[in-house]
Amino acid sequence: MDCTNNMIEENGLKNELGTIICKRCGTVFATIPTNGYKLIYGICQNDNCQEQIGGENE
Ligand SMILES: [Zn+2]
Repeated sequence: MDCTNNMIEENGLKNELGTIICKRCGTVFATIPTNGYKLIYGICQNDNCQEQIGGENE
């Protein structure tokens, strides 16, 4: 369930400085523990993003 993520953040688990952002829709969909802040581009779970249609409409 999605609630888990919120609970972890509220518990003050601030080790996660690596932010994974979807390069297709721009949504931050995951964070990972890293040494220092890092911005990593990936593909989120969204069907529209999973399909590599290859048309950038924006
Ligand atoms: Zn996406």
